[in-house]
Amino acid sequence: MQQKVQLYIGPQLACYGFGEGHPFGPDRMDAFWQETLRQGLDKRVSIGAPVMAERQAIERFHTPEYVDRVIACSESGAGYLDYGDTPAFKGIYEAAATVVGTVLAAAEEAINGTHKRCFIPIAGLHHARRNMAAGFCAFNDAGVLIETLRSQHNTQRIAYVDIDAHHGDGVFYAFEDDPDLCFVDIHEDGAHLYPGTGFSDETGKGSAKGSKLNLPMRPGANDADFLKAWPEAQTFIRAFKPEFIIFQCGVDSIEGDPITDMRFTPQSHAHAAAALCHIADKFSQSRIIALGGGGYNRTNLATAWNAVLKQMCDC
Ligand SMILES: [Zn+2]
Repeated sequence: MQQKVQLYIGPQLACYGFGEGHPFGPDRMDAFWQETLRQGLDKRVSIGAPVMAERQAIERFHTPEYVDRVIACSESGAGYLDYGDTPAFKGIYEAAATVVGTVLAAAEEAINGTHKRCFIPIAGLHHARRNMAAGFCAFNDAGVLIETLRSQHNTQRIAYVDIDAHHGDGVFYAFEDDPDLCFVDIHEDGAHLYPGTGFSDETGKGSAKGSKLNLPMRPGANDADFLKAWPEAQTFIRAFKPEFIIFQCGVDSIEGDPITDMRFTPQSHAHAAAALCHIADKFSQSRIIALGGGGYNRTNLATAWNAVLKQMCDC
């Protein structure tokens, strides 16, 4: 039987990490994959190989000056790409370009290939801006994906849905005035957590007013809070009728994450994944790409990412 889902896995993708012992370490992909094997989900998906993006593709979103800076820092392996959150390491350019290239390969697959649903665990680096890194994110793969869908795939109306504990500020502010980017973000209230943005009155600018939905949650928000918030998100996305769905399913919103205060369980992530697959089936020719996003508790990351993957296979 033809598999519905393509999962992107490979050592080149795991390389995007800031060293052993760092919350965003290179061991994250394998922690996820071991659980995929344990649950036998590997037999229910096709496996796609990581691909490194061309510089030209990265520059659909990022400025050439910033790309030059990442290349220079990648060669020296020293210093920070921002003001102290995102350290450079030797090869960070190749690693970050591989995250981007793999997401773009998944989009190509969802549009022209046989797998309409794709999952990339090491991706969803939603804090990077067009001209700078931020919060462990060198290149914003979601931002490059949005620009690529528009310029290369004639796909304008895109829904970006983000349930990472942190607000997806790098995506939000890059497309704040873009009415064709439906942005929905459930996150820990910016008054309590980095990056300190994503308030409910941030609904888009100019002609894009009303195309963005920020749903900040109290610290300690649980599955009941998620289920209370979700219907508004779902109605908002359905009303927009997206041609393509990007799901940033960051799992640092699960209870026990070392750097946030949220208390969802993987059931929240599974619920969102199932709902978004149904919306994609109805409006987007089934095209949906899930990006792993944040998540620093290795057990949570293994269970919640696999919960998303299982829903993508099942529903
Ligand atoms: Zn996060």
